[in-house]
Amino acid sequence: KPDLAAKIALKLKLAKPAPVVHALDDVSLTIRSGEVVGLVGESGCGKSTLGRVIAGITSPTEGDVLWKGVKQDAMSASQRRDFGLATQMIFQNPMAALNPRMTVEELIWEAPKTHRLARSGERNTYVDKYLTLAGFNPETKKRYPHQFSGGQRQRVNIARALAVQPKFLVCDESVAALDVSIQAQVINLFMELRDKLDLTYLFVSHDLGVVEHISDRVAIMYLGRIVEEAPVDEIFRRPNHPYTKALLAEIPRIEPGKHRFKPVKGELPSPLNPPSGCHFHPRCPFAMERCRAEVPLKQEVAPGHLSACHLNDA
Ligand code: SF4
Ligand code: MG
Repeated sequence: KPDLAAKIALKLKLAKPAPVVHALDDVSLTIRSGEVVGLVGESGCGKSTLGRVIAGITSPTEGDVLWKGVKQDAMSASQRRDFGLATQMIFQNPMAALNPRMTVEELIWEAPKTHRLARSGERNTYVDKYLTLAGFNPETKKRYPHQFSGGQRQRVNIARALAVQPKFLVCDESVAALDVSIQAQVINLFMELRDKLDLTYLFVSHDLGVVEHISDRVAIMYLGRIVEEAPVDEIFRRPNHPYTKALLAEIPRIEPGKHRFKPVKGELPSPLNPPSGCHFHPRCPFAMERCRAEVPLKQEVAPGHLSACHLNDA
């Protein structure tokens, strides 16, 4: 189903903070329709930025985001609107996105009204539909955000995102701030909605347990580059890249959602001044002379399994 593929090949420079940062460096990631792609990496590696670029919130200074085969900067006004509506983002802090002075009903109706996705006479049934999809009793619609728990607020955000009829959800640490038991509920809701509404997900997380549970494919990011990409079982059973291996070695894996990986030994270098060659070389136990000089290219090490490491040339 390539129709919905969001294909990204970009270089991004961020103007803030003051110095120019190559937050993303020649990232290329293809997300197929109906897939859940987990994007993993230590904080500061650029995964949130990549999520925002894919969702159309941040624009790359170089490179392209393609939606249904059309480059973002070549889109007509109506294509831009469709892309904006079709890709929605669910953030980590469920309260931040909710205006505290609006009822749940107003919050959910806001965007569909603006974009004329339904007539005003349909307001009630429309709002009820999305509240129900997000697991609420429609009677809750007269309540305000502060009258809900953290998990419920996140479900209000989900109902709001769904109400513009998206195809693609970018979840940036969407369950990270919630209690573990609530995390499981929200993750199950995401999975249920995927089947009911044919959704595609990019699931940005530093929690390998959650990613293993939810993803079809996983991309591992290190300092602005995707260093490994594979079906979820491949990543967890046959990791290829030394960075991925280090991440996996650091987590005691018992239950999904329970464990966050500890940082890999050594500091994550500053993205302002990333190491030459393979960015991982200062922390890699297998680093060779070549690793300092030459950027390793992604190559296929098994069907659908890409890894960027010079060891694969040996
Ligand atoms: Fe380690 Fe070299 Fe492979 Fe980078 S390219 S992960 S430094 S062996
Ligand atoms: Mg982040």
